[in-house]
Amino acid sequence: MKKILLCGGLILQALMLRAQVSPALQARLDQQAKDLEPKLIEWRRHFHENPELSNREVKTGARIAEQLRALGMEVQYPVAKTGVVGILKGAKPGPVIGLRADMDALPVTERNSLPFASKVKSNFNGMETGVMHACGHDGHMSILLGVAEILSKNKNDLKGTVKFIFQPAEEGAPPGEEGGAYLMIKEGVLENPKVDVMFGLHLQSLVPLGTVAYKPEGLMASVDNLNIKVKGRGAHGATPWDSVDPIVVSSQIILGLQTIVSRQTELTKAAAVITVGSLHGGIRRNIIPEEATMEGTIRTFDANMQKMVHEKIKTTAMRIAESAGATAEVGIDILYPVTYNDAALTKQMAPSLERAVGKANAKVIAPVTMAEDFSFFQQKVPGFFFFVGAYPVDMKLNAQPTHHTADFMIDERCLVIGVKSLVALTTDYMYQKSK
Ligand SMILES: [Zn+2]
Ligand SMILES: [Zn+2]
Repeated sequence: MKKILLCGGLILQALMLRAQVSPALQARLDQQAKDLEPKLIEWRRHFHENPELSNREVKTGARIAEQLRALGMEVQYPVAKTGVVGILKGAKPGPVIGLRADMDALPVTERNSLPFASKVKSNFNGMETGVMHACGHDGHMSILLGVAEILSKNKNDLKGTVKFIFQPAEEGAPPGEEGGAYLMIKEGVLENPKVDVMFGLHLQSLVPLGTVAYKPEGLMASVDNLNIKVKGRGAHGATPWDSVDPIVVSSQIILGLQTIVSRQTELTKAAAVITVGSLHGGIRRNIIPEEATMEGTIRTFDANMQKMVHEKIKTTAMRIAESAGATAEVGIDILYPVTYNDAALTKQMAPSLERAVGKANAKVIAPVTMAEDFSFFQQKVPGFFFFVGAYPVDMKLNAQPTHHTADFMIDERCLVIGVKSLVALTTDYMYQKSK
């Protein structure tokens, strides 16, 4: 009897886990996403032509707030400087789902002849620069506005609440300012009503159009900033024996740091990266300077490994400096955590993604050493983040449309795919979690 009950319970659980919205509702939602394509493109092009830098998304935020209000939902604005939160309550009770899109552009001068190319200029770190949506956040906003429009239209079929989170400063707040996902959480975006789960996506210009890509657990790396200052003793370049040469010591430190990943990290567990991207010291060929500075970036996928790498960097730099009679000051600033897809949630939601794009088009991929501040949400609630392929197949491009470059480009057909994916995840999750 007990066995039968247990068996029945398991079957019920399996059925609940597989519960998705009815085929009729699915078909209606998919059709509405398709019908929305001209608007999605129009919105994306508007944002593309009017990009704003991190924490300066003033016009962008105002427009989004206005658009969400027009859909009749409760709108909180501004949140975390220029962010917007729209709250859509479904007709039936159920979970609270957070959907996030980032809003900021980058200090990049666009290089193409598209009619909606950005002509915006701004000042970044004291330098005159063009401003461009060179990471695809214009597309993310358009997609989330599309999801908001479709779900509002189908409010009577929704079991639960959706929070539409438009987040500023994903690329990092200007020096001395707070911003991004961290600030949104600090200002209470995950409370009232309390968010149960978060979904987010990123367009990927180098991933084929029509596919989506994801993986359970660590999808994107944590990022830490590394700063090392080596202090030695200056001398005439002709008499190095009178000096403690900080340039030679820095070179030894850079080589020493290479062995942390290659020789001291268990790479079968997870990948790690230490890159020194800048080295400054000295002013003239025959003057040995007193000090040299290095800046670098550290990427890991595992909290213990991250801690270990930090300790080894400090020991390696300080001991190498000491061996030469110099000193090394090591500063490490922890920036973004790992973008970590909750394993159970990923397993639960993968079928929805597969249904939205076709099973063969939903790919499980290797981890990516870039980072995302969506990771801050995932530290607080289970979250699922995935990539939507946006490679512009038909365009004759002069260069790879790599993110953060003047040649960045997406195929706008990815917008509908993004909408369909987020709508499927949201509605399926609601139907799985409510009775
Ligand atoms: Zn970016
Ligand atoms: Zn981005």
